[in-house]
Amino acid sequence: MVQFSYRRTRYYLLPCSDGDSLLAFDAGWPCSPLEYARGVKAAGHGFDRIKWAIVSHFHLDHAGLVRDFQDAGIRCLLFENQGDGIEGMERLVLRSHKEYRPILRDRFLSLRTDESRAFLSSIGIAGEVIRTPGHSDDSVSLVTDAREALIGDLYPLPQVMDDDEASLGSWAAIRALGARHIFPSHAEPFELA
Ligand SMILES: [Zn+2]
Repeated sequence: MVQFSYRRTRYYLLPCSDGDSLLAFDAGWPCSPLEYARGVKAAGHGFDRIKWAIVSHFHLDHAGLVRDFQDAGIRCLLFENQGDGIEGMERLVLRSHKEYRPILRDRFLSLRTDESRAFLSSIGIAGEVIRTPGHSDDSVSLVTDAREALIGDLYPLPQVMDDDEASLGSWAAIRALGARHIFPSHAEPFELA
């Protein structure tokens, strides 16, 4: 797995088993395809190698380039708890980016999280996607069998309030899958005690 960042957000790329294709975890800021592609290049890859994308949640720094990805032929996944946040995100994006083009809803590859292990396995990635609400209801995390967890904007445990049952439950689920190496979208990776 490799990572790069721009505008204070980290993006991750996971190699698929064919040795050529990549799965992107999160899809950039709106109207920033060149910056994103520059990041991919700095990470040692080419944008055209990305064949799949998973979005941790539909906020503009995570799903801003989904339409650009779709136009480039990248299959973007949509899980059962996702989709409701798209409209709100796009309303916000259009306030500052008149040139923004909306996501094509019928282009998503819709998948249930409990189907994610089989799907990922089919492209050569050992792991699964789980729902990790807390930061937002549409949040998911990708946990690999190498004990890595890509958590998007899930709040780090020390910042989770005692009564934030959603976030606490999400951390419990991540732990239950054996994750140790945590990769947030806006902070340095850290080890789970
Ligand atoms: Zn974010």
